[in-house]
Amino acid sequence: MKIIDVKCAVIASAPVIRITTDEGITGWGQIETPKPYLQPIVLQLKSWIVGQDPRDVERVMKRIRVRGGFKPWGAAVSAIEMALWDIAGKALGVPVYRLLGGKVRDKVRTYRTLYQAELGALHTPEDYVKWAEYGMALEGGFTMFKLPTAFHSAMVRDFPDFHYGEVQHEAPFPYPHKGLMSENGFNHLVDCVVAAKETLGSNYGLALDAGPGFLPHDALRFAKALEPLHLLWIEDMITGDYVPFVNPDLYREVTPYTTTPIHTGEQIYLRQNYKALIETHAVDIVGPDPCDVGGIAELKWIAEYADLHGIAMAPHGTANGIFGLAALIQVGATLPDNLIAFEYPARFEPFWYEITEGFDGMPVKDGLIEVPDRPGMGIEFIPEAAKKYLAEEDADFFD
Ligand SMILES: [Mg+2]
Repeated sequence: MKIIDVKCAVIASAPVIRITTDEGITGWGQIETPKPYLQPIVLQLKSWIVGQDPRDVERVMKRIRVRGGFKPWGAAVSAIEMALWDIAGKALGVPVYRLLGGKVRDKVRTYRTLYQAELGALHTPEDYVKWAEYGMALEGGFTMFKLPTAFHSAMVRDFPDFHYGEVQHEAPFPYPHKGLMSENGFNHLVDCVVAAKETLGSNYGLALDAGPGFLPHDALRFAKALEPLHLLWIEDMITGDYVPFVNPDLYREVTPYTTTPIHTGEQIYLRQNYKALIETHAVDIVGPDPCDVGGIAELKWIAEYADLHGIAMAPHGTANGIFGLAALIQVGATLPDNLIAFEYPARFEPFWYEITEGFDGMPVKDGLIEVPDRPGMGIEFIPEAAKKYLAEEDADFFD
């Protein structure tokens, strides 16, 4: 079998990838929703993989891995990896999890990040109560939630003098703020988190996405202050989302000194860049995103290596779309017992269920997703239904 073409179209701001073969089998991949600018990055990889056998996933990956980097520049390579697994599974008529060693669980736990924009919540204790109530009422019966807060949120702008640094009111995404927190800002942040957790009670888990932007001693003070809340984790306080480096030494100034679990890793590309983080126990939990780290096999390797070191795994995935969701389920079924839950890709419009087949609507029940047995990743485009969402320049995507 040979790859004969690689196409990339943008649907609702998400680049989707189509790899076709000389045997008529098609593989699908998807890049995070707000990254249409990666379309040309996918297309420039085409000449590197056409003519290769897609079932030799690692052999193909060795040709293109060098073309990736930390978030967002590993996404094209990663999404191609998922499309290759999709083809490899379909060629044998088996789900991808079988090719990764088989499943160790029939249902995979997923957690839901709650966004400020979903209910117009502000960063006050009263709004954090509403946020928690909103999460508990969501379809899917999620049992774990994550709140963007502190430097990972508008709290920096909304709360006066949150930190000792300039506030960039018109700042572009991502997070431009960093610095020592004021005493009032710190106390306000703690009050907000306490309000959310007291509303959720002990039957629901709460994680925080809080940075980057903390100085290490503030990160430690924050993690220690929240110890009685039994949080799932605090994420990316020092480095993380869109930061093109890791700095494990700074995390080591925090993690050993608090019982609140410390989490990072969504921006990291490739297993090598987890090495120091894992080997030196710089964090308690790692959170690679299969759509940024280099693919699902890369993520599985990191999960196994983390497990050897007593480090837990909670993969990132909020914007990975419906094809990314399918990939998270397949790899999630195979991960060792250090898996906590993967982040549910909540950020896609319902119409994706109408232009694809595989999911019978929103698949989460009691916070879990049943692992499907369909071949490949288990999800297919319905070209007749999807065509109307293509831009004019992508009109031949399904041809
Ligand atoms: Mg995050």
